[in-house]
Amino acid sequence: MKVMLHEMSWAEAKEYFAKNNIAIIPVGSNEQHGPQNPLGTDHLIAKAIAEETAKRTGVLCLQVIPFGVSSHHKQFWGTVFISPKAFKNYVKETCLSLEYYGIKKIVIVNGHGGNRCALMDMARELREKGIFVSVFQWWDAVGRLLADRFKPEERGHAAAEETSVNLALHPQIVSVDKAVDEEPRKHAAEVEGITLPLDTVDETSSGVFGKSTTASVEEGKKVLEAVVSELVRHVNVLKKAKIEALMQKPKV
Ligand SMILES: [Zn+2]
Repeated sequence: MKVMLHEMSWAEAKEYFAKNNIAIIPVGSNEQHGPQNPLGTDHLIAKAIAEETAKRTGVLCLQVIPFGVSSHHKQFWGTVFISPKAFKNYVKETCLSLEYYGIKKIVIVNGHGGNRCALMDMARELREKGIFVSVFQWWDAVGRLLADRFKPEERGHAAAEETSVNLALHPQIVSVDKAVDEEPRKHAAEVEGITLPLDTVDETSSGVFGKSTTASVEEGKKVLEAVVSELVRHVNVLKKAKIEALMQKPKV
């Protein structure tokens, strides 16, 4: 059975939509992830876990939306940065296309923390229109396991945690020999207790927040398997849930 929307014919899609009201949309970013990781890290991870989950649950999965809210990384070459408003509307219109065919429950698999606010805003707006959107983030879903397996300094952007997952998924595009360890520096105003809208370049020169040289394929594989089983559970819970039970309504 096909689960990827772009691989189905319209007749096959019609058959899916006639029987199901749930779908998965992976989203991510194309942004710097240190000298060792591919720019596509966030969307490639979201794509991989979403597609594996679709296979295991039989739930329809869309192509990954690769570009996200990344302007804070733009001083590093190759980062593609979309405004929160444009990103939110693009994902929203994608969801509304699915709703036209009867989809009422959508699991967004988000690979990039910077997309979260726009996605939550969108989820709230769509809930008011009768569409339930959940936002799944792999690092939150298996937070306890990650805290057990990685030291705090290995858990930052492009550090060992993320690099390990990349190594497990696509070692051929990770340059482990270029991995570095860099402690993020504090801006002078920050030291004074002032909150600043900082860009990555203000805090690190390499783009790595913390320690990345301890990354390993084995750890990455463990994380991936735990993430996929959490996502399968998440999708199955929503698959069974009645849409009425997920909607907002006036207080009784
Ligand atoms: Zn990332």
